[in-house]
Amino acid sequence: MAQEHSLTIRPISAFQDNYIWLVTNNKQAVIVDPGQAEPVMQVLAEQQLELTSILITHHHYDHTGGVKELLRHWPHAKVYAPATEALPAPNAIALQDNDTFTLPELGLTFDVCLVPGHTLGHIAYFAADGVMNAQGEAEPVLFCGDTLFSGGCGRLFEGSAEQMYHSLQRFSDLPNNTRVYCAHEYTQSNLTFCHQVEPNNADLKKHLQKVAKLRQQGIPTLPSSIGLEKAINVFLRAHVAGVAASAQAHTGSELNEDIKVFAALRRWKDSF
Ligand SMILES: [Zn+2]
Repeated sequence: MAQEHSLTIRPISAFQDNYIWLVTNNKQAVIVDPGQAEPVMQVLAEQQLELTSILITHHHYDHTGGVKELLRHWPHAKVYAPATEALPAPNAIALQDNDTFTLPELGLTFDVCLVPGHTLGHIAYFAADGVMNAQGEAEPVLFCGDTLFSGGCGRLFEGSAEQMYHSLQRFSDLPNNTRVYCAHEYTQSNLTFCHQVEPNNADLKKHLQKVAKLRQQGIPTLPSSIGLEKAINVFLRAHVAGVAASAQAHTGSELNEDIKVFAALRRWKDSF
């Protein structure tokens, strides 16, 4: 569907390596996972933006810590959050798996995906309409919080490896041109791990070089895309023979299912 809007999505840095994503359409602003209020307030003031909505992916403080303060300044902003986790604001709109809702200020409709693993109630926001690329084609948008990172996936604080595997599988099924907006700049260290697992993956080697250059200049490596992640991120590649063989060699035991390969990779990464 063609849209009459000029959406921009860009990161606001917070804490050490968090990104708070700022989505704007004209002078209206939506933010995703504001762990801190100050950097957001600063950008809103500089650009004279009105905060209309806040999207929350999960309950961790580095994703929700700024909500209260932002609502003090923007009391009419709507807060969207996972239904099965502690709500970050009393009037938050509680979202369940497969819910859809529209943000009229952006002209975007979001599908809610429940993606347990990092936390049990973690949700992701997917907009199929997405944003226009330079060629005038719409690219879908995914805000995935701490579930999928470029080259990695979230730690299993609450859920099981099996839950995380299925959550990532849902992302794998999204269109390849989906832009992936992760909540942390972990890409370079993640890719170092991926390279250890898959030393002969040429796409991965190439991307690792690109990322090293970007980071040298302090440039964010995000957004990624689903197509790129399927090519370079070992956590989406448990079905690949070379990845399975590497995980098997590392654990010293036979891993005859993709889920077992995935679980072994997650444990390996934890101690990497
Ligand atoms: Zn988290």
